[in-house]
Amino acid sequence: MSNVPTIDLNDGVCITQLGFGVFQIKPDETAAAVKRALDIGYRHIDTAEMYGNEREVGQGIRDAGLDRAEVFVTSKLNNGCHEPDDARRAFDKTLEALGSDYVDLFLIHWPLPTLYGGDFVSTWKVLEEFSREGRARSVGVSNFQTAHLERLAAETGTVPSVNQIEVHPYFAQRQVQEFGAARGILTQAWSPIGGITFYREGSHGSTLDDPVIGAIARAHGKSPAQVTLRWGLQEGRSVIPKSTKPTRIAENIDVFDFELSADEIAAVDGLDTGRRGGPEPGAVTLEAYGREIPDA
Ligand code: NDP
Repeated sequence: MSNVPTIDLNDGVCITQLGFGVFQIKPDETAAAVKRALDIGYRHIDTAEMYGNEREVGQGIRDAGLDRAEVFVTSKLNNGCHEPDDARRAFDKTLEALGSDYVDLFLIHWPLPTLYGGDFVSTWKVLEEFSREGRARSVGVSNFQTAHLERLAAETGTVPSVNQIEVHPYFAQRQVQEFGAARGILTQAWSPIGGITFYREGSHGSTLDDPVIGAIARAHGKSPAQVTLRWGLQEGRSVIPKSTKPTRIAENIDVFDFELSADEIAAVDGLDTGRRGGPEPGAVTLEAYGREIPDA
């Protein structure tokens, strides 16, 4: 039985707050990593069409011997498939690859403002279609900034359940988080332990080497990764750490036996540099980042 808390989304769907991310896990390592995560208590897996490992995520869930309903599965629309018919075709492939007739959450991966005149609103309406059909229990967005969320609110009657964005101690996107919170949109942190700060050259170093986080970790007998995850959980975000290493997969869910003080939370809040590690969402265009959707 998982001891991970759950959060009710604005559409009534219940999400497990801490999940397992599989970005950059090679397809031939994914099923084993997912099974290991599920065996030790994770109940939420975050994949995407563009990660190329949805099929192996489905396999890992079956290998773990769990009922499909016991696992919260998220996937995300391929950047090259924003036009409504492309989105429908891509979503069918996602379900086929996962070996399931539904996903728990389906996200627009990037807003792609320059593509098709920036018409992510039409794309969003197709996701709502998946929701009405019961093939996506919940629908949301990823990498949306406040202007994108404002436009969705102005042009549709609905709000996303989730906005999955880069959030770690060095880049907290407070304005986007607050805008979402005021509208009942759950912020889900990608790179929640700061992975983007150590697997990509950036303007700052690794969050795991930060002396403030290190001191807090020593005070609790925990690791910097665990402190960083705990900070995200206590601030109410969903977090989806990734690892392929069994000891780290276990370490990253072992974060429910300690609590950070208000001062410690404030100290981590104080590390925000305002500089993102990942790409500026407005710069993520199909030309720059597009990829053919692989055959499911
Ligand atoms: P994370 O913050 O999860 O960090 C992952 C990195 O940290 C890997 O290099 C991993 O290496 C290492 N690591 C994991 N656990 C530990 C630990 N306990 N101690 C030290 N190092 C550790 O970053 P990600 O960028 O992977 O983000 C997590 C998930 O978020 C992704 O898998 C994906 O699902 C999602 N995501 C979504 C994006 C979007 O655009 N919507 C963009 C990026 C990510 P190792 O595997 O070797 O342990």
